[in-house]
Amino acid sequence: MHQAERNGYPGRRFRDERLLEAKVTAVRAAVPGMTDVTLRGPAFARFACKPGAHLPVEVPGGAQGPVLRTYSVWRHTPADASLTLRIALHRPGGPGCAWAGAVTPGARVRTGVPRNRIVLDPRARHHVFVGEETGAVPLLTMVDALPPGAVTHGVLETTGPEAEFPAPDGARTLRWVHRGRASAAASPVLVAAVRRLELPPGPGVAYVAGEAATCRAVVRHFVTERGWPRYAVKTQTHWTPGKCGIL
Ligand SMILES: Cc1cc2nc3c(=O)[nH]c(=O)nc-3n(C[C@H](O)[C@H](O)[C@H](O)COP(=O)(O)OP(=O)(O)OC[C@H]3O[C@@H](n4cnc5c(N)ncnc54)[C@H](O)[C@@H]3O)c2cc1C
Repeated sequence: MHQAERNGYPGRRFRDERLLEAKVTAVRAAVPGMTDVTLRGPAFARFACKPGAHLPVEVPGGAQGPVLRTYSVWRHTPADASLTLRIALHRPGGPGCAWAGAVTPGARVRTGVPRNRIVLDPRARHHVFVGEETGAVPLLTMVDALPPGAVTHGVLETTGPEAEFPAPDGARTLRWVHRGRASAAASPVLVAAVRRLELPPGPGVAYVAGEAATCRAVVRHFVTERGWPRYAVKTQTHWTPGKCGIL
């Protein structure tokens, strides 16, 4: 089996991943349960990063050696050759969570290049963003990137008001709902909040990111209850209970 497959990645997609050298320059608590890790590396000055992009990060995996975990780009500053990831410190955590919780400035790290699963559709009549806190990371960068006249709706979910966060540039934000201590997996709180959204008539484009079962439930809602075509709902699943690494 190829190294990438041992890392939890299908070999076909990541077999030829060329990892880039970077250094951790800052680690800061963002909100309770989430930490910002800033990386600097020469390659970060060169590549373009579309809103909502993510990249693989090599983290220590214990006895099995380094493993890859995927994180969305919260902020990219080419002038500074840096980018910041916003990482959930969930329990029980895996290697990614352990790395984000313990890493300190000066640590060396290797990453892949940014890529996108979902991108903004400039032709959309309106945009709807839905996700829990890990989904909020790419979704809020996408919200920031919309032109001033774009019609935006959506709802995000986290544990409580203290864990909410605005978009990186902060010009717009989305409403948050709270699940308290309940799991984000198959969250009825988020789906109920989506059901309550008052949207313009006719489909727009929905961007749904985060835990897999919740994403599926939100897709079902748009397609079966609101009658949107499936292609108008773009999803990016981040994790699912019991599965390690990429989905
Ligand atoms: C495209 C993409 C973008 C992503 N962007 C981000 C991001 O910006 N920020 C971010 O924090 N994560 C993001 N993720 C999720 C991230 O890649 C890892 O899944 C997550 O950090 C868990 O890695 P781990 O090694 O700690 O746990 P793993 O070894 O992968 O899993 C250990 C256990 O923890 C559970 N678990 C994983 N994540 C959570 C969670 N959030 N809450 C509760 N339980 C969990 C798993 O289901 C599993 O049971 C993204 C994933 C993808 C595919």
